Amino acid sequence: MKESTRMLVPEEKKCIGCRACTSACPEKLITFSEEGKLRSISFPANCSPDCELCALACPEKAISFTFPEEEEKSRVPLETQTLDFELAPCQKCGTAFATRRELEKVRTAISEKFPFPQQEASGWNSAPAVVRQRSEKSKQKQLFRQESFKKIEKARQYQL
Ligand code: SF4
Ligand code: SF4
Repeated sequence: MKESTRMLVPEEKKCIGCRACTSACPEKLITFSEEGKLRSISFPANCSPDCELCALACPEKAISFTFPEEEEKSRVPLETQTLDFELAPCQKCGTAFATRRELEKVRTAISEKFPFPQQEASGWNSAPAVVRQRSEKSKQKQLFRQESFKKIEKARQYQL
């Protein structure tokens, strides 16, 4: 019987460069690199026929598998494929932190859920470090308010 090789096919139009597949692959066959404003994801041409974890993890359903016959192999990529994505800068600190396609997806999801301009301040276009810093500041403000409230309450009790 003629043995058929399973090929892994990433779809460039669907892929947003989110790296979920790189984390999901137990064999570390899907890799990524970042340099300056560019993120590259490299997919192997083929791999274990018993696994499809990357395809399951992909939020965009951008990975599929095919078993090309000999005559079809010229139309299917037989070598590692690399997709390149432009990284967008954080609106606050300027660090390149997510692909433009990822951010566009998040922006669309937010505007569908919260169709109000004030949601622009929700942090979707800021680097994780900036979001953490912002949330830390907000926690500190809250603590400060709580402490002030306690002091006012205590002062009131003394006055009674
Ligand atoms: S099918 Fe499995 S082994 Fe192959 S690249 Fe995807 S996660 Fe890795
Ligand atoms: S998980 Fe899907 S969308 Fe994300 S990088 Fe991999 S193939 Fe692209």
